[in-house]
Amino acid sequence: MAYIVALTGGIGSGKTTVANEFAKLGIPLVDADVIARQVVEPGSAALNAILNRYGTNIIHSDGSLNRQHLRDIIFSDTTEKVWLNALLHPLIHQKTQQQLQQANTPYVLWIVPLLFENNLSHLADRVLVIDVTPEEQISRTVHRDNVNEEQVANILKAQSSREHRLAYADDVITNHNGELNISDKVAKLHKRYMTLAQQKNR
Ligand code: ATP
Repeated sequence: MAYIVALTGGIGSGKTTVANEFAKLGIPLVDADVIARQVVEPGSAALNAILNRYGTNIIHSDGSLNRQHLRDIIFSDTTEKVWLNALLHPLIHQKTQQQLQQANTPYVLWIVPLLFENNLSHLADRVLVIDVTPEEQISRTVHRDNVNEEQVANILKAQSSREHRLAYADDVITNHNGELNISDKVAKLHKRYMTLAQQKNR
């Protein structure tokens, strides 16, 4: 099993930007957001269970899950949230382990936006946090997505605080606006992770 580096950070911090630099070095990426979508693909057992519970309104005309509608349901009803989590969490966990085990490199990068919120850090050998200011998170996300400042601020409130993430980080990449040397920072960490992976597999 490859050494597992979990990459986390708040909304708009730059996780994708940083992960792409590791990918350029040949490191495989396992992305929690991608897996969360894969387990509810059209035709999947999980999407069928969701369809049985909520009816055809829960899917778009192309057969894909209407995520916004599902979010609205679980936001206003704890029972439904518990039901959905009980359905999806084991499937997501299983798929994550499968993908992590497929890595044939010394280490693998596991991108997990909600690593701390979902208490998943024990599944990683090392935690890398992308750090920016809340102001930068807000302005980038407003710029990128079609949302206003208040909506992003609410998402920030629901996520772990900057301080919490930094307190539990093994490594930190700061990614302030205009940061130019992300690839240098990633190259240094890559070296460190290769060494740590070797030590673990000895
Ligand atoms: P999310 O979790 O919200 O999907 P993320 O953590 O993956 O976000 P990115 O998608 O990498 O973050 O970056 C968010 C936005 O900020 C993107 O539009 C990206 O181009 C921009 N961005 C990333 N790094 C910087 C930087 N150093 N300076 C300015 N803009 C940046």
